[in-house]
Amino acid sequence: MKEWKKNLRDIEPYVPGEQPQAADVIKLNTNESPFPPSPKVKEAIASFNTDTLRKYPSFVCPELKAALKENYPVSDTELFLGNGSDEVLALCFMTFFNSDKPILFPDVTYSFYPVWCSLYNIPYETIPLDENFNIRCEDYYKPNGGVVITNPNAPTGIYMPLEKIEDIISHNRDVIVIVDEAYIDFGGKSAVELIHKYDNLVVVQTYSKSRNLAGIRVGYAAMQMELTAALEAVKNSFNSYTLNSISQAAAAAAALDKDYFKKCTGEIIKNRTYTVSELDKLGFKTMPSMANFIFTTHPDYSGEELFNFLKSKNIYVRHFNKPRINEYLRITIGSGEEMTSLVSALKEYVK
Ligand code: PMP
Repeated sequence: MKEWKKNLRDIEPYVPGEQPQAADVIKLNTNESPFPPSPKVKEAIASFNTDTLRKYPSFVCPELKAALKENYPVSDTELFLGNGSDEVLALCFMTFFNSDKPILFPDVTYSFYPVWCSLYNIPYETIPLDENFNIRCEDYYKPNGGVVITNPNAPTGIYMPLEKIEDIISHNRDVIVIVDEAYIDFGGKSAVELIHKYDNLVVVQTYSKSRNLAGIRVGYAAMQMELTAALEAVKNSFNSYTLNSISQAAAAAAALDKDYFKKCTGEIIKNRTYTVSELDKLGFKTMPSMANFIFTTHPDYSGEELFNFLKSKNIYVRHFNKPRINEYLRITIGSGEEMTSLVSALKEYVK
């Protein structure tokens, strides 16, 4: 064996859902929005002064922070921005989880968390969700090096009321608690306002789902100033200019178009209700979702079989071959037309 091979980093990466390129595919596998971004985003990009691209982007992102402040009661120094919430979360793990004690997160949750733990050598312990896939707050009342809660959880879609989130934060005042709110805008209530009450809270959100902008890679987090300062120091030891200027302008425009945001998220909620009730008639058991996806299973057909059948019909959904959830499909809520096609395909298969 060549000597240098011994020094290669060996890591099992996170594997995202497929991105099929064919035009005729119904893509319900990565929780993207079926709707285009706000028309204001189109205007912002069309009028973008490309001459400014010769310069590095602003790393304080004033325009984008001003737009975000229209939506949340936070100040500039309480906001941290990154290239998608994955980058924000990765930097948070690196900055906040440096204890010898394990960090805690549920056994069924976003599967990127263990990957960052292994990348940064962070000890972790997964806490089983209860038999109905709910988080039990008491399970998080023990010594740990940090806590990560996704709310609503993924891939279950199950939402935890803010009182319970607060219960977990208040029982963990000696460590940082991250609340990953990638899917909060489809019916849930954000924990952002709690950052003023708890100096150990970090709330992370994304432009990829409810803002219809997965392609521009913008995510952000809210927390008290001392934490943003620590996070900025780590980011600036890695890459100072994470967010490009065009993404900053587009994201600012999207944040300001509140009507369009409400219209799109409202449409997703309506299509979710429709899909759940149609699947119910076919015998599916679906977890109560507050996200832009549902997690569903059928007593008579395996998850893998349903996944393969839908794929043969050019309908891409997500199937996780993992303990506890391998009989489930995670289906992104798309447009009305896409959901009708999904339901008719399943009607054909599930007799
Ligand atoms: N958190 C959760 C729970 C997610 O499902 C995702 C999407 N894969 C992300 C964070 C990251 O999203 P993005 O990097 O597009 O902001």
